[in-house]
Amino acid sequence: MSDGSDDDAFGQGSFDLGIGLLFNMDLNSLRAPRLRDLLERGLAMRQAIRQRPDPQQRVARAVGLNQLQNLDDHDLREALRVLDAWLRAPSEEPAPARRSRFDRPTGVGQLPVPRCVRAALVDQTCGLCADPIKPGDEIGRMRPLKKPRNGGFVMMGWLCHHCLFDRRETPRRRDLLIRFFHHLLNTSAVGLNARECGLLHTWLAGGAAQSSQAWLADPLDATVVRMATSVAEDKPNTWFAFPTGVTILKALQAAGTEGPDARLLADILQHIDEWDRNPQGVDHTRYGTGVAYRQQVLTRTSRPTFLSELGGPFFLHKAPDPTDEEAEAADAASG
Ligand SMILES: [Zn+2]
Repeated sequence: MSDGSDDDAFGQGSFDLGIGLLFNMDLNSLRAPRLRDLLERGLAMRQAIRQRPDPQQRVARAVGLNQLQNLDDHDLREALRVLDAWLRAPSEEPAPARRSRFDRPTGVGQLPVPRCVRAALVDQTCGLCADPIKPGDEIGRMRPLKKPRNGGFVMMGWLCHHCLFDRRETPRRRDLLIRFFHHLLNTSAVGLNARECGLLHTWLAGGAAQSSQAWLADPLDATVVRMATSVAEDKPNTWFAFPTGVTILKALQAAGTEGPDARLLADILQHIDEWDRNPQGVDHTRYGTGVAYRQQVLTRTSRPTFLSELGGPFFLHKAPDPTDEEAEAADAASG
C-alpha cells in the first residue's frame, strides 16, 4: 500500500493515467524494458487495491504460465491487457487460460499441444497468418521448442484458433504460402504433409501454371507426381528442395491466383527477390548468406509486409515430433 512517499505512483491521478495510458497505447509498438515497466506498475496498482488474490499469480495463470518471470514481448503485452481489464473491473478476476484437454485433429495434420488457449480481450491480428482476431475469439501460444531445435527459430506470438489447431489438417492457400515463406527464410527445403500436398496439387493443376515461364524453365512434372503420392499414401512429410519451392511459387503466381492469396504470394516473391539481389546492401562478411543474412534483408526491406513485421523463421511443425509426444504425455497427465 501507499505510505505517502508513493503518492505519485498510487495516487488517483496516476491511477487514471495508468489505465488511460494502457488503453490508448499501441502495445505492439513497445518492447521489453518498457512493457516490463508498465506491467510492474500495473501489478503495484492492483496490489494497492487489494493484496489478495496475488495479482502476479492471477495474471500469470490468465496467460497460461505459472509465474511472470522472463516473459517475452508477446506475453508481456497479453499480461498487460489482462491487468488493464482487471483494473477497469476490479471485482472481475481474470480467468485462467486453458492448458490441457484440447480438441485436436489426429494423423498427419496434427499440430503439437499448445501451451495455453484463452479468449482475446482486444482486437488484434494472428501472430502467424495475420488474420483479424476479435475480442472473445480463442487465441493461444505454442510451447517453446526444445534445444537444439530452437537454434535459429523465432517464437511465434499469440495465434488464431485455425493456426493453433487446424492449419495442417484443413490448410488454406494462405497457410501453404506462409509455410513456404518460413522454410525459405530458414534456407531449408519445404516440408509438406499429405493435406498440404493435396491442396498444392490442385492449385498447380491450373493450366496456366504448367505453361508458365517458371515451369518451362524448371519443370515440375515429377514434383507434382510426388505430391500425388503423398496424398495417396497419406504421408506426414514430403520435402521439396529450395529452388523447386521458388519455382512452385512463381508457377502459382502465373496460375492466376487472385485476391489476398495473390497479394501474399507477391509479398513472398518480393522478399525472395530481395534475398537474391540484396538491395539494402547487407554485409555478407558479417551475416553470411544463410538465415542471418535473410533475416537482415527482411528486417531492412524498404517495402515492409506483415511477414517482415512478424519476422522469423518460425518453426511450423513437421510430423512426427518428439516434443509433441512429450507435450502429449504432459497433456494426458494434467487432463
Ligand atoms: Zn492465424
